[in-house]
Amino acid sequence: MKTLTVSLPGRSYDILIQRGLLARAGECCRKALPKAGRLFVVTDANVAPLYLQTTADSLAAAGFQVSSHVIPAGESSKCAGQLAGLWEAMMAARLTRTDAVVALGGGVVGDLAGFAAATILRGVDFVQIPTTLLAQVDSSVGGKVAIDLEAGKNLAGAFWQPRLVLMDPEVLETLPDATFADGMAEVVKYGCIKDGAFFAFLAQRPDRTALMGEIEHILYTCCNIKRMVVERDERDTGERMLLNFGHTLGHAYELAGHYQTWTHGQAVAAGMVKAARLGTSLGVTPAGTAEKIAGLLEALGLPTAIPCTGAEYAAAVGLDKKGTGEQISLIVLEELGHAIPWRMDKAALLEALA
Ligand code: NAD
Ligand code: ZN
Repeated sequence: MKTLTVSLPGRSYDILIQRGLLARAGECCRKALPKAGRLFVVTDANVAPLYLQTTADSLAAAGFQVSSHVIPAGESSKCAGQLAGLWEAMMAARLTRTDAVVALGGGVVGDLAGFAAATILRGVDFVQIPTTLLAQVDSSVGGKVAIDLEAGKNLAGAFWQPRLVLMDPEVLETLPDATFADGMAEVVKYGCIKDGAFFAFLAQRPDRTALMGEIEHILYTCCNIKRMVVERDERDTGERMLLNFGHTLGHAYELAGHYQTWTHGQAVAAGMVKAARLGTSLGVTPAGTAEKIAGLLEALGLPTAIPCTGAEYAAAVGLDKKGTGEQISLIVLEELGHAIPWRMDKAALLEALA
């Protein structure tokens, strides 16, 4: 088993990575939550038929009373209505302050169930059991939990660290190819911003079967990078910004496709290539870097460019018509494996993107 410990002031927790770990969820949760009596498992309609039984059986065998709650799959479940439904279901299941919530699913389940855990009874413990690649390398680590509002994504939320993150790489076998590729965009991001050797490692095996052969190493490397960044900047006021590489421009592509045409991972993929090109035009990123990133992303089945208008870029960087002089921090690469924030004038950025 590979283990990482995330150490934060007043609270630290383990990330456990091992094939077949789902069937041992009970013993792992027992160690992390010695006092809990009831575990309230939240999952979605796709994950429930695949993995709820194994998880619930293992938790029950470790002596927990288990309740479960299944939400519809998809981003639209990350909403106030589902949150309120969860709160009521938790109270109907007689959850107490010493009990805990278990998020079994992708980022949607993790963000929603985590926010419910942060708020029910003024906060109860929770465990992340991420089942998508994106959730395993990104959303389950770091303690950001949230729901979406009409006004935008992730606008109501909290920082609420889990007690344990438990990853079974075998669950990734049932992911659709497109969902696996989506998660790979974030995996590639870690190589770009912090670990050039890891980028090269990925570039040598850019297909799903080969990647799955090395999946424990991949999950460990990504989670370790996120761990270091989160430990140094839990509240997202400094270094955590580096994780936004490709995301500001990616946001423009998500807007351009009205959040329908392009998935988050596809938008981030194209955003990273564009950010690398921009970095080169600013004289920061070595020439040829964008091409290397694009080559890997293309082999992974991700887009490397997405059509986008100046108005969409402007909306994504929050520039209105009178916005000259406003500054933005964009993440650019000094080299493949080392990202830095780059402050520039928003109007100048739009000119450079045109
Ligand atoms: P998701 O949770 O919607 O999962 C994608 C799809 O895969 C869903 O249909 C789900 O039912 C299905 N699925 C999940 N596990 C499966 C499995 N093992 N086999 C087959 N199907 C499976 O989406 P996601 O990409 O995991 O997460 C996206 C969400 O994560 C967004 O809401 C985003 O805002 C959030 N996010 C949060 C953070 C954070 O720090 N909290 C970071 C990044 C992203
Ligand atoms: Zn992302």
